[in-house]
Amino acid sequence: MSENASTFKAKSTIKSADLDHRFKVNFNIGKYNNAVPLGKLQFRDTDLARERAKNVKWRAIETLDQQLEDFESNFTRRGGKVIWAEDAEQALASILEICKAKNCKSVVKSKSMVTEEIHLNKFLGEHNIESVETDLGEYIQQLDGEPPYHIVTPAMHKSKEDVAKLFYEKLHTPPNLTPQQLTLVAREKLRAKYPVAEIGVTGANFIIADTGSIAVTENEGNARLSAAFPKTHIVIVGIEKVIPSLSDLSLFWPLLATYGTGQKVTVYNSIFSGPRQAGETDGPTEMYVILLDNGRTNILDNPVTRESLYCIRCGACLNACPVYKNIGGHAYGSTYSGPIGSVITPQLSGLKEWKHLSNASSLCGNCTEVCAVKINLHELLLENRYEAAESGLASTGEKLAWKLWKTASLSRKMMNTGNKKIKNWMVNKAFSGWTAHRSGLDFAAKTFNQQWKEKTGSGASD
Ligand code: SF4
Repeated sequence: MSENASTFKAKSTIKSADLDHRFKVNFNIGKYNNAVPLGKLQFRDTDLARERAKNVKWRAIETLDQQLEDFESNFTRRGGKVIWAEDAEQALASILEICKAKNCKSVVKSKSMVTEEIHLNKFLGEHNIESVETDLGEYIQQLDGEPPYHIVTPAMHKSKEDVAKLFYEKLHTPPNLTPQQLTLVAREKLRAKYPVAEIGVTGANFIIADTGSIAVTENEGNARLSAAFPKTHIVIVGIEKVIPSLSDLSLFWPLLATYGTGQKVTVYNSIFSGPRQAGETDGPTEMYVILLDNGRTNILDNPVTRESLYCIRCGACLNACPVYKNIGGHAYGSTYSGPIGSVITPQLSGLKEWKHLSNASSLCGNCTEVCAVKINLHELLLENRYEAAESGLASTGEKLAWKLWKTASLSRKMMNTGNKKIKNWMVNKAFSGWTAHRSGLDFAAKTFNQQWKEKTGSGASD
């Protein structure tokens, strides 16, 4: 078993027995579940909207090279700069180069999973550059020294009391502040950061090819401030975020809002198309977009799992997943958690180290059911399992167990041998890894042949 798999198993075992955690997560997901049906009312045909979105993403991904080149030429025409990064190291090196050129001491950044993927905050810290998370949830997580718990709501696992305690310990505020008071404390702290930061970093929800723009969706206005105050704006975005046209936003913005939080449309939706132009009074004087591959072209190369690149990171599949709701976002040990994380992490970072995530699923299909862009998530989990088995990555014990199972299942003679008690003991012993956390397998008291004979009066063949 890989180290990641052992850690995953240990963390999941602890978390799934933590009733306090389960209560908090279910409470927050409960609020989400109440909001989503209201958001969906804005669509005349929700299913058709999802189908259309899937088709748009299909077209974008099938023509990814052309779409990205179109974006680059349209964006650079207005003075923006595009950097192509094959991996995290290249992205970080480019960011550091820009920081050095700007003599940067502090960065303000908005929530971005890609910056988590490349561990940007840690990297900047190692180079004595302060990187401040300005999204409230991310700010809370940064104060607590934890990565985001959820791709949309980073501090979903914390109650308001937990946050009040954290602020008391880290910021020395009174211990029992209300959510409103806590927000005002965070606002006061963060507002002071924008005017002094040399660089603002954001992610992007969409890369728009035909206008050469990026679109950023948020509820707090912090991404706008991060992009507008500092003289330099750096956008880091995965290459799969492309959509062909500005007009596609009329479909994707409401879908993202409804499936992300149950809103009809998110509070702030910004489109950035380059640095400040002549005659404009505000905005950054320089704007960079770093297009990050970091394993995405490996997924593109796989005709089956390619579909996972359609993801718009709405988080709906996490909220619907019985595994995620019990083990929580941190047990996965990867940047992307939940069903989509279990599909893409093994593809992005290697099946050998991460295939266990694809096994941690009941295959109930709830994720596929709720996906905003209709990705067949549970089938992709099966595909990862298939690819892992085909690549010979199963352990010797697992291979042997399945071989025995197959041999016995295909032989009526073996199935008819021994009584229920002996068979239960043998099988549950052989599959003890399986039965450690599940009820044991229980054979019927009578074999199929015996039952058939009793029913029909004739014997079934071996
Ligand atoms: S896979 Fe689908 S449901 Fe999950 S985050 Fe992506 S778009 Fe949302």
